[in-house]
Amino acid sequence: MPWEEATVHISSVGHASVSAAFEGVHSYWSAERGVLHGFRLRDHMQRLLDSLRLSWLEPEFDAVALVAATVELLASWEASGKDLYVRPWGFAAGTHKEQMVPRGTPAEIAIETWEFESKLGRGRTCTLAVSSWPRFNPGASPASMKVFSNYHNGRLGNVDARARGADWPVFLNGAGNVTESSGSCIALVKGGRIITPDLSSGVLDSITRKTLFQLAEEELGLTVEARPVERTELYLADEIFLMGTAAEVLPAVEVDGFRLGDGKTAGEVTRALEACYHDTVRAVTAKHDEWLTPVPAAPAR
Ligand code: PMP
Repeated sequence: MPWEEATVHISSVGHASVSAAFEGVHSYWSAERGVLHGFRLRDHMQRLLDSLRLSWLEPEFDAVALVAATVELLASWEASGKDLYVRPWGFAAGTHKEQMVPRGTPAEIAIETWEFESKLGRGRTCTLAVSSWPRFNPGASPASMKVFSNYHNGRLGNVDARARGADWPVFLNGAGNVTESSGSCIALVKGGRIITPDLSSGVLDSITRKTLFQLAEEELGLTVEARPVERTELYLADEIFLMGTAAEVLPAVEVDGFRLGDGKTAGEVTRALEACYHDTVRAVTAKHDEWLTPVPAAPAR
């Protein structure tokens, strides 16, 4: 629908936002194949439905329908040759009373898209700071739910990191162990092994994390260890990287003033992983075509 018509009543904004769930999906232009691909669309839509289910919200669409709607939306976009970001989200329909005590409450679904250029292979790096705001307790608000209300904590961490001269925060949980950043997961490399906080540390079950760890094992023959990670392990790591749909593979060169590697450029393992991810999402390789949904060009209008 036209942008101006996509409105929600003012009385719905507050309460509907509390339980609203969303996804961030990347679609990549493949110069090799001359086509845009949605990346792991089905997995993202399933996670959206899972988040809504845990919020007691009931959309009338299944994952297949949501993938089809996304492909239709992307096909209508005229900027061919560009990477696009997709944000599907769902929120409680009805009055604020139904929104606050949802049970079988119908959910509205909106899917938006905008240009979002990949930064893979550009030599991008970042600096990190352990957040003075701890991560929210996953026992009180599950980290596996991608709901907007979980992002308030992330916002505070972003402000805190920037105030201390770093790009992104790293959150610790109640036990003082590492969880994730504000919109991405984290892993470190030590002695050629990849180590990452396990899901029960309080981490979103990231689709990029799953993708990269599979590629690390398949393509680079590396071992991935998911377990509680202590803060000090960050300071003594050989390499650290963030990972997520928007972050893609983002190498860190410093954490709380501790330099990683030469303190300027990405480490060897991170660079190799970034290259594998690039080749996968850009469809340079056909090894994981099951993760790519081609978007047919829109019919001429
Ligand atoms: N953690 C948080 C808090 C996030 O918002 C995201 C981005 N969705 C991630 C991790 C990475 O998840 P994914 O790889 O599925 O984008």
